[in-house]
Amino acid sequence: MHTQHQYDVLIIGSGAAGLTLALRLPKRARIAVLSKGPVREGNTWYAQGGISAVLDHKDSIESHIADTMDAGAGLCDPETVRFTVEHGPEAVKWLVDLGVPFTRREKRRHENEFHLTREGGHQHRRVIHAADNTGQVVETSLVNAVRARDNIDLFEQHLAVDLITADRIGRKDRHCLGAYVFDRGKDKVEVFRAKFTVLATGGASKVYLYTSNPDTSTGDGIAMAWRAGCRVANMEFNQFHPTCLYHPQAKSFLVTEALRGEGGKLLLPDGKPFMQRFDPRAELAPRDIVARAIDHEMKRHGYDHVLLDISHKPESFIRKHFPTIYRRCLEFGFDMAREPIPVVPAAHYTCGGIRTDLKGHADLENLYVVGETACTGLHGANRMASNSLLECLVFAAAAAKDIGSRLDKTSLPPELPEWDESQVTNSDEEVVVTHNWGELRRFMWDYVGIVRTDKRLERARRRVELLQQEIHDYYGNFRVTNDLLELRNLVQVAELIIRSAQMRKESRGLHYTMDYPEQDNSHPPTDTTLIPKKSKQGTVHHVAVKKVERLSVADS
Ligand SMILES: Cc1cc2nc3c(=O)[nH]c(=O)nc-3n(C[C@H](O)[C@H](O)[C@H](O)COP(=O)(O)OP(=O)(O)OC[C@H]3O[C@@H](n4cnc5c(N)ncnc54)[C@H](O)[C@@H]3O)c2cc1C
Repeated sequence: MHTQHQYDVLIIGSGAAGLTLALRLPKRARIAVLSKGPVREGNTWYAQGGISAVLDHKDSIESHIADTMDAGAGLCDPETVRFTVEHGPEAVKWLVDLGVPFTRREKRRHENEFHLTREGGHQHRRVIHAADNTGQVVETSLVNAVRARDNIDLFEQHLAVDLITADRIGRKDRHCLGAYVFDRGKDKVEVFRAKFTVLATGGASKVYLYTSNPDTSTGDGIAMAWRAGCRVANMEFNQFHPTCLYHPQAKSFLVTEALRGEGGKLLLPDGKPFMQRFDPRAELAPRDIVARAIDHEMKRHGYDHVLLDISHKPESFIRKHFPTIYRRCLEFGFDMAREPIPVVPAAHYTCGGIRTDLKGHADLENLYVVGETACTGLHGANRMASNSLLECLVFAAAAAKDIGSRLDKTSLPPELPEWDESQVTNSDEEVVVTHNWGELRRFMWDYVGIVRTDKRLERARRRVELLQQEIHDYYGNFRVTNDLLELRNLVQVAELIIRSAQMRKESRGLHYTMDYPEQDNSHPPTDTTLIPKKSKQGTVHHVAVKKVERLSVADS
């Protein structure tokens, strides 16, 4: 018999969303925080720009709301946008009180005056930052604060496999009891049961061949919640960053848009410029147009990258303005002061996700979803820069408040069925898993990437179905591995993206299809919502193994 972990709150994910939630819960709550790799590894660590909020008297809540709605191309939820923006200043103040060393203004009238930058889409300076490595600074402060708290246990190298759910006897609602978790160190699956479970697992951009995201972004939370019966929305809206360094070892290295702002030119590998053909603003056109133009040229000519050239600027200028990029490029053998650097667009942000309300509550009782995993309605069809960290902070606080108010009224779930490994064997077919990873990310890039068509989407759907069948065969019969679990989630998320993209018969925000190149304004725009089929009632669902056990759960 194994001992089962039991907590008041199980938080899956240790980025800005998960750690903020842990710290904002009452100190009497016993909390487990899981991260599938090292604690800091996730999108938060890589955030460069900063966090948007109304922090200056020249700015206003109404202006931040208007900019967010404008970026979202008609699909933002007005209530969510107002809620997020109004709670922004408090969310930032909480970080300041925690000791996050944001960059301060050089000339200050007051002690607490921070330097604010202005980014694409924002009418005002409202992005608070810590130089150009805001994510590292915020994550470090959050991790330090979490480590200092006695009521929070941190489990690194622990990968959540599936949620454990049950239907309440005689009632329609299904609820969440915890999760099965793969301990990578011990190579075994354990039970974590909790009064409340929170998914804060980040985005799903690793579904694409090129991404600015670290390896953690495999959409695990979205796939888990979907399998457990939650609605998923707006998965067709994937944001692509126009320029990531193209080099096998530079997987997630993003080349800031400021480089084009300072005169950087995009060239084809033969040295010809091309942006002027796509937009009169050329290199200074909005992010989506630049990404689409690069994608178009790469696909048309069969190139695997284009070039970005700023070598016409003096070396001293480049070193001063872009010290990190200059250094990084040199590490990979490119001297950007003397030659163009190879770049590709890359999947950057997942706007869609698990549908939640203003408390971060998802469709299962006692399940909350926060951060990039959630679809709160804030971003609509396109995310405005620096609104995503803000969303993590605001919704983590809201969920913590709600869970705090229910903590003493909710009972711990009873002992749950163990993970059943009696039927499984070891497999030496890991090469198939690796191959399927590569295949999936390549066809998602080619057929479901920046530019889509009905035909490409249909092709991708057929391929995804095949992969799902192969994974199903593997999953039932072989011992789980990290790669297999992540592949299973990525394939699930890919299917959700393709289905959502097929449902949207127009181009809007980040979804662009050559078959319907215009926005459809003949009726009010709607979200793309996918609803999972319900499985049997009155059972504990252990989606991963074929075993299903009965369990009665008392109302709390
Ligand atoms: C290069 C880059 C620059 C960016 N710049 C900005 C910016 O300037 N401003 C801004 O607002 N946004 C920016 N973003 C977006 C922003 O960083 C993310 O949206 C945000 O950090 C997401 O936080 P999160 O807590 O939801 O997820 P993450 O920070 O990605 O954390 C996810 C966590 O979940 C864990 N996890 C995942 N799956 C499992 C599993 N199965 N079991 C256990 N643990 C799991 C991971 O280990 C990790 O701890 C940027 C993103 C990138 C990639």
